[in-house]
Amino acid sequence: MKVEILGLNKIYPNGNQALKDINLEFGTGMFGLLGPNGAGKSSLMRIIVALMKPTSGSVLIDGKDIQKYRKELRSMLGYLPQDFRFFTSLKTWEFLDYSGALAGMKNRKARLAEVDRLLDQVGLLEVRDRQANRLSGGMKRRLGIAQALIGSPSIIVVDEPTTGLDPDERIRFRNILSQLTQHNVTIILSTHIVGDISSTCQGMALLNKGELVFSGSPPELIRHAENHVFKLNLTPSEYEDVKEKYNVISTIPVETGWEVQIVSDDLPEFACSEIIPNIEHAYVYFMEHKLHADIAE
Ligand code: ADP
Repeated sequence: MKVEILGLNKIYPNGNQALKDINLEFGTGMFGLLGPNGAGKSSLMRIIVALMKPTSGSVLIDGKDIQKYRKELRSMLGYLPQDFRFFTSLKTWEFLDYSGALAGMKNRKARLAEVDRLLDQVGLLEVRDRQANRLSGGMKRRLGIAQALIGSPSIIVVDEPTTGLDPDERIRFRNILSQLTQHNVTIILSTHIVGDISSTCQGMALLNKGELVFSGSPPELIRHAENHVFKLNLTPSEYEDVKEKYNVISTIPVETGWEVQIVSDDLPEFACSEIIPNIEHAYVYFMEHKLHADIAE
């Protein structure tokens, strides 16, 4: 399965440009879309699932334009929107059964078997008879992923699935998603949380103010920050100076003052040691440092 995003622009009727000439391509496996709030992630997700039209450009799935083949392609797509809510008095299993019927599963027996299999997969089998709107926040998100999965879609789009979840639920959710990648599906995960982009993402993109600022693999993103992350031990007055001049990632109080991590293109003018960057460092390097540096040039 190949997804191609070609020259995509989205301008809302009020003039807000949410997406600027986005070009991306990815295949089977997990693809992570990372960016701060307002970057344009939800707009891109809604266009990919054909709920919204782009102003210009197109999205092709295995070479087919989603606008032209909307009906056919929609049945291959599962979607968990950012704002997934339900005001139903249906029981948990009934809600999922209803979602299955909407996804085109006509055989009732097969559908009911699938409902329980999915409830088990997302850890909700024990609460299958509870009213869906009485589930906890984390359970509702998991029911959300189950409704996106019913009907065996080959592309699953999840928009900010871990927002508002506590750390336990977040890990659980990430595990459910990474298990899915073993089933030959394409998962598109949008998030503003760097930690959600795990090593299970084969591909990823960084979006900022509607623009694509990076696309590649997580290790490639990290490579960009190599030789650009430093650790410094500073006195309080030096720290004030460093704060002015550099992008500070973290600050820890130590006996003599502060232990500080910074990103910088050049070797800082203070005694320092280099740090092997992780994905958080690389994110800050791109979003807060590189972009500002490029603009200043
Ligand atoms: P993200 O999901 O990354 O937070 P969005 O796609 O929701 O980003 O928003 C991108 C930009 O488009 C923001 O500036 C937002 O205010 C704007 N936007 C989103 N939806 C609408 C809309 N329906 N009408 C006008 N502007 C919108």
